[in-house]
Amino acid sequence: MIKCSQCGIENAMTAQFCGTCGCSFESIQAELNEAYQEEAELLRRQAKNASGWLMVVAGLQGASGALYSLTRGGEFDIVVGASMAMVVLFLGLAIWARRNPAAASIVTLVLLGSMWLVEAIADPTSLFRGIIIKIIVIVVLTRAIKAGIRYRELQREGRVT
Ligand SMILES: [Zn+2]
Repeated sequence: MIKCSQCGIENAMTAQFCGTCGCSFESIQAELNEAYQEEAELLRRQAKNASGWLMVVAGLQGASGALYSLTRGGEFDIVVGASMAMVVLFLGLAIWARRNPAAASIVTLVLLGSMWLVEAIADPTSLFRGIIIKIIVIVVLTRAIKAGIRYRELQREGRVT
């Protein structure tokens, strides 16, 4: 709500004029708009950040697949094939995260969570492998989910296009 400085009556956040005394909220709206644009910029950065980290995950998948293949004399088997598929999958998610960060991040978290779970069942120590990257990815994706939801809200309110 915007409280009118002249008459003290509360008006809707989008009001251009006070409904009671008619005084202009132009400068208040300009300030609000600036704050919303700043927030929107931050939200876009958080979505980009998630996208960037998904590319890192894709790169790591590719590197581990390549390393696995190299240690076996350049062999291309199911493990290498699976990690190449993962590279493509995470690159796709990275691109999607730029357009729809909330949905892409939720899907990625579920996917990574189940991957890590399967790995941990096979080898419990694997849970701690790359733990720092795992934590960063979880934090960044969670933030991108919130950012995506908030951005939608701003769009619905007509604060950003
Ligand atoms: Zn007023």
